[in-house]
Amino acid sequence: MHIKSEIYKKIMDSQNTCPPETGGILGGQNEIITVEHFDRGMQTDRMCSYIPNIKELNDVIKQWQMKTISFMGIYHTHFWSVETLSEADKRYIDKILENMPLEFKRLYFPIVVMPDKKMVCYIAEQMQGKLVITKEKLIVD
Ligand SMILES: [Zn+2]
Repeated sequence: MHIKSEIYKKIMDSQNTCPPETGGILGGQNEIITVEHFDRGMQTDRMCSYIPNIKELNDVIKQWQMKTISFMGIYHTHFWSVETLSEADKRYIDKILENMPLEFKRLYFPIVVMPDKKMVCYIAEQMQGKLVITKEKLIVD
């Protein structure tokens, strides 16, 4: 995943230092992330997990499309240095991919790991109806 350094910095600087988890949407052009949109997420009974607000996400994706910016993925925070995606994360990733048009069937799902303040990136895609998640190298420039 290739991300512009100003966007990377903006994400890192806007993180809470304690729960609840938050997240946001990533967009860009030519496979490079050039824009992000912060999302408070849905209120859930499980305070510790971020679930994206699908309606807000869809509105932002539409606005971006008018500016020829492609939706490229979703980031969210994890506390206590947890670098792996949770089962709840995998469920919403699967649901998002399920509902996306064909051109967005491959998306980035980076985790902002706190308090380490680092980003660990995953790429998710559906292959023959099955969710496949792979760790992905991060390029910041
Ligand atoms: Zn998570």
